[in-house]
Amino acid sequence: MLRSHTCGILNKNNLGEKVVLCGWVNSIRDHGGLTFFDIRDRYGITQVVSSPEETDNILYEKVKALRNEWVVMIEGEVAARPEETVNLKIPTGEIEIKIINLSVLNKSNALPFELSESDKTGENLKLKYRYIDIRNARLQNNLRSRALFCHKMREFLLSENFIETETPVLTKSTPEGARDFIVPSRLNPGKFYALPQSPQLFKQLLMVGGLDRYFQIAKCFRDEDLRADRQPEFTQLDVEMSFVEEEDIIGITERLLKHAVEGIFGREVNIPFPRMAYSDAMSKYGSDKPDTRVDIIYKDLSDAIRLTDIKVLNNILDRGGVIKGFTFPMGDKLSLKDIENLDRYIKEEGGGGLGWIRYKGDDIQSPLKKFLAKEAVEMLKPEKEPGNSILFFLGGKEKWVNEKLNRIKEVVLEKIPQLVKPGVFNFLWVTDFPLFEFNEEENRIQAVHHPFTSPAASDIPNLQKAPLAARSRAYDIVLNGNEIGGGSIRIHNRSLQEEIFSLIGLKEEVYRERFGFLLDALEFGAPPHGGIALGLDRLMMLMLGENSIRETIAFPKTQKGTCPLTLAPGEVEKRLLKENRIQVDIPQIE
Ligand code: ASP
Repeated sequence: MLRSHTCGILNKNNLGEKVVLCGWVNSIRDHGGLTFFDIRDRYGITQVVSSPEETDNILYEKVKALRNEWVVMIEGEVAARPEETVNLKIPTGEIEIKIINLSVLNKSNALPFELSESDKTGENLKLKYRYIDIRNARLQNNLRSRALFCHKMREFLLSENFIETETPVLTKSTPEGARDFIVPSRLNPGKFYALPQSPQLFKQLLMVGGLDRYFQIAKCFRDEDLRADRQPEFTQLDVEMSFVEEEDIIGITERLLKHAVEGIFGREVNIPFPRMAYSDAMSKYGSDKPDTRVDIIYKDLSDAIRLTDIKVLNNILDRGGVIKGFTFPMGDKLSLKDIENLDRYIKEEGGGGLGWIRYKGDDIQSPLKKFLAKEAVEMLKPEKEPGNSILFFLGGKEKWVNEKLNRIKEVVLEKIPQLVKPGVFNFLWVTDFPLFEFNEEENRIQAVHHPFTSPAASDIPNLQKAPLAARSRAYDIVLNGNEIGGGSIRIHNRSLQEEIFSLIGLKEEVYRERFGFLLDALEFGAPPHGGIALGLDRLMMLMLGENSIRETIAFPKTQKGTCPLTLAPGEVEKRLLKENRIQVDIPQIE
């Protein structure tokens, strides 16, 4: 080792010791002839002092020539800091190093941004110089916590008899609802590998292989359109088990999260987690990932609206639409202007406008006041804080209403953040999902999760007659309104799997070509099995209190899927294209 100690460890117990430290020059200060600088590494910072009287001339000049971020090795003696410079906020704050020798291991250009200015620096510049941003304690801490968290998960899973197994990255399509990234095969001209959207099919094959309990901290690749806070490659903890039912996967996931979250983040995790059926989540929260920290529950207001003569709303109901809304307390925190802005937003989105009633003491304020029958006002009246609350409601198709109410709720929560219960981790299972949903654009039904998810046993006989009514054996796990994972019990029977493929519109020759290997495996003694995957990046983001998953990934990509550091994706040499028998209809470099 070049060093005897790290920069975060020396204290008064080391007084008088001769030490060697290595690190980056953090800041240099001149005080009446004395030169101070801090030397920094991952572990902390230590103050170094050089005075013209005690230091030989050449050394003193060398110290004076130092610049921020140069990499240095210093030799010196640990001394007590004069009382007035003691800094009890850092572990090394009572000592300093009187320098005896200095080697400059490497110089540094002036940084493109100050480490302390990282928050205010543009994303592109920060990603271009990601290795500099990583010098910041915050990113160092995030990466370290992530590593420790993975270690804890491994520790738990290994103790539960799971086998960590790598699955291929160059493979065939594993559909999870995104596009595949494809890789040409030089040795098989005209053929392509797909990068895995998840290890789904391989983990199922491992169960057929009798591995019984599998896990992997797996890279997954999904070519999706721009969406905030998505990464084209991301990491998930992937798990699969044989001879299990929903309760087994749910139980082991809860114990795993308790072990790792309590172990690394020191926060108490109470298990079992609450559960909510998908239909309740949609009707009460308008979302399949409800944030139960917010006590705002959507209500169906049809009955109350029926008591009024408001034509537009009654027409909506007659046409099979819904009238839904929510109330919230602290209504005085929202001004008339805020409400007008929301009303404008709804009109811009093609709605007739936002219905609202402000409950003020015993009175109400509402543009609909004269149309509202007394009984309707009573029925709509909020239970909590009826004297200072607001009711917002909308009419239309349920999906549209839910989406817009969710957006309005977001704005309300931005204005009244007190409505979000602070400092809690609300884990929640969402269960009883439908197996299929209708894709209007493609005019076909598609799997809500993936097509390997088992239908609920009682719905299997009616799959052909009423596919959209079938429920699945899937479960999602949600944390504070974010989906952090999901899984299911799988189909382990070939004919049922084929039936599902054809229900989602795949022709026999297509599913045989794409998934024939899975179908074959299901006929060679496939055990009942199921599993789950947890999104590591998002989970870390929430645990670390970050706003973006990028802050938990060492080298993330921009929202456009580019890497400003390496300039990936880039063009490739013509020779490579030729070898891979690829023609590109955009001019390429020679
Ligand atoms: N393969 C699924 C996913 O990546 C998870 C699972 O069903 O286990 O979302």
